[in-house]
Amino acid sequence: MQNNLRKYKSFKDVTNFHGHVCPGSALGYRAAQAAMEELSHQRAPDEEIVAIVENDTCAVDAVQVVSGCTMGKGNLIFQDYGKQVYTFFNRENSRGVRFSLKSSFDMNELEPKLGPLRDKISHGTASTQEKEQLKTITGGISQKIVEMPLEELFQIEKVELKLPPKARIFKSQKCSICGEMVSEHRSRIKSGKIVCIPCFEGD
Ligand SMILES: [Zn+2]
Ligand SMILES: [Zn+2]
Repeated sequence: MQNNLRKYKSFKDVTNFHGHVCPGSALGYRAAQAAMEELSHQRAPDEEIVAIVENDTCAVDAVQVVSGCTMGKGNLIFQDYGKQVYTFFNRENSRGVRFSLKSSFDMNELEPKLGPLRDKISHGTASTQEKEQLKTITGGISQKIVEMPLEELFQIEKVELKLPPKARIFKSQKCSICGEMVSEHRSRIKSGKIVCIPCFEGD
């Protein structure tokens, strides 16, 4: 196990990229790391792994670092559902695994002081000392998330997925209003002319 883990990115690698330690990035780290083990794959050098994320929180940075799936490569798919659900699959054999945060997982249970402190901060009544305390507490929660049994965090299911098309190169067209180039699949038609989305939505 230990040896096995070394070939994967660490939570420290995630933090270096993300910029701070937080429960969200810890959750993304756990899901992505378990997915890499399940799909027995290292970071995707070129699109073999596809990740589907159903939120745009801190967790997604961890998913990108650990799985190698990124927005730019087109193998990170964002579905704006506001759910703590992360699905990974191996494009070569369509084997996939889906991680859904359990409703029983409660950060306030891991650290009862969290709720009251967050309330104070959102109401602007927290002292500097309390703000520091929150940092320590969220750091502690993140560490617990990194170490706790995976089954306590996620409902894990094996899934078989239809593969999305590989990242495609789209032709560009010129917007007839602002004159800037716009990718074909994002262009719109306004009064019979090709326009970009900002010009389409503007007056
Ligand atoms: Zn974060
Ligand atoms: Zn335009």
